[in-house]
Amino acid sequence: MTKFNPITPEIVAELTQIVGAANVILDAEKLEAYSHDETPKDQFSGMPEVIVTPTSTLQVAEIMKLANARLVPVTPRGAGSGLSGGAIPLHGGILMAFEKMNKVLDVDLQNMMIEVQAGIVTNEINAIVEDDGLFFAGYPMSLESCQIGGNIAENAGGGKAIKYGVTDRYITGMEVVTPLGDILKIGGKIVKDVSGYDLKRLYIGSEGTLGIVTSATIKLTPLPKAKTDLLVLFPDVQSAIEIVPMILSKLGIVPTSIEFMDRLSVETSCKYLNEHLDYESCGSMLLIEVDGTTQEQVDSEAEMIGDLCVENKAIEVYVADNYTTQERVWAVRRNIAEAFKVYSPHQSLEDIVVPIAQIPALTEEIAKLSAEFSLSMPSYGHAGDGNLHTTLIKPPEMALEAWYELEDKVVKRLYQVVMALGGKLSGEHGIGIKRKAYYQDVVAPEELELMRTLKKALDPNNILNPGKIFDLA
Ligand SMILES: Cc1cc2nc3c(=O)[nH]c(=O)nc-3n(C[C@H](O)[C@H](O)[C@H](O)COP(=O)(O)OP(=O)(O)OC[C@H]3O[C@@H](n4cnc5c(N)ncnc54)[C@H](O)[C@@H]3O)c2cc1C
Repeated sequence: MTKFNPITPEIVAELTQIVGAANVILDAEKLEAYSHDETPKDQFSGMPEVIVTPTSTLQVAEIMKLANARLVPVTPRGAGSGLSGGAIPLHGGILMAFEKMNKVLDVDLQNMMIEVQAGIVTNEINAIVEDDGLFFAGYPMSLESCQIGGNIAENAGGGKAIKYGVTDRYITGMEVVTPLGDILKIGGKIVKDVSGYDLKRLYIGSEGTLGIVTSATIKLTPLPKAKTDLLVLFPDVQSAIEIVPMILSKLGIVPTSIEFMDRLSVETSCKYLNEHLDYESCGSMLLIEVDGTTQEQVDSEAEMIGDLCVENKAIEVYVADNYTTQERVWAVRRNIAEAFKVYSPHQSLEDIVVPIAQIPALTEEIAKLSAEFSLSMPSYGHAGDGNLHTTLIKPPEMALEAWYELEDKVVKRLYQVVMALGGKLSGEHGIGIKRKAYYQDVVAPEELELMRTLKKALDPNNILNPGKIFDLA
């Protein structure tokens, strides 16, 4: 393991010279606030020794050169909304936060592109171009807090990925500072580019371990003119899940979203929001959104989907065709994670992904695990992408030590199931530190070795976000 040096008063003085005193933070309360992200704090945290908030790419490059010379680790951080511990400074050192690099650099309506600094809050991008009838279609559900730099590092996706894809589809250009402090400008406003290796894809999804994104050029998409949401109630989990591949293959319709929520997930979120959805009579729900250019087309597709659901065991199909009701049902879906956190703070939020046709088999296996371990394992998520957020909930009476043991055992078994179905450990939250130990057990050795070779070549001193995804040794 790399032996890092501690942050000394001399290093703090050098950092102050680069970014100015107002952008160097040593205050204990702030250090604590940046010691964790949205993964449970009792299991995943690490204290930074100093926080810097650079205001330019040049400053970021200078900090990286200094960090190499002094052999201190640097952890990039966006909004800290991550769910795999990626922004946690495991080895102390410098935490580089991007909140002050939040400017819009260029809005180019003719090319339908926007260029922004890495620290802009994702939803602000949409707010800026909304009046021009455009949006960034790859956004995750945390868009009101997360930053575009964090989205790129995680290759985040969201509730619309089935139709619009995830972040990587929309990033056409990037400015990146390498671990050694060089500045790279990759791509641009072009929508096609096969000139040399696709270096954008090397950095997108690399969880801040290969380079630091300081700005990005994003391709914008025309806002759909019409949309309709269906809230479909099913008697059980299996019948809801079985309909998902049928919508795609039988009807040939690609909805904007097919979100799945089992009964406990809906109930918990409704309780948290003081909302009332008709969950008492059902075992699970699908929230299906269809969008398009005309209301007639959208309504006709929604009707076909509704009919298919009714022919296949749906108890009820509710149509949400205006903003207020659409917001009501989406709020329930968006707040499930937060609700579980409030009512069951000790839990493991998983992010498993399988081929779409394997989702029925996956939910069957989850039910078996839940019964075998007498453990509550509610599931919800992006069923249209094969991506479920199964959540392992600590039984209230269980001691913490026993819970950590049980959690480890069940997570291992769950990952075995997922891999056997041709899936992966994470569809959008990343490996970070939360899944690192498990990932090393399931990834092919040749693949792991190639990733280690890349990391060593780009970051010879292992100073950029060390200890994430995999260990080097
Ligand atoms: C309520 C809730 C809902 C969520 N919904 C979704 C969802 O629908 N889809 C989804 O994909 N995720 C979701 N997430 C997870 C999280 O919001 C995303 O992973 C998001 O992309 C993280 O962005 P961030 O700015 O908070 O990054 P952080 O958490 O601060 O960091 C995440 C990773 O990015 C790296 N990083 C940050 N900025 C940079 C940079 N400029 N350059 C290089 N590396 C950088 C960090 O080192 C870290 O490894 C959700 C989280 C919450 C709490």
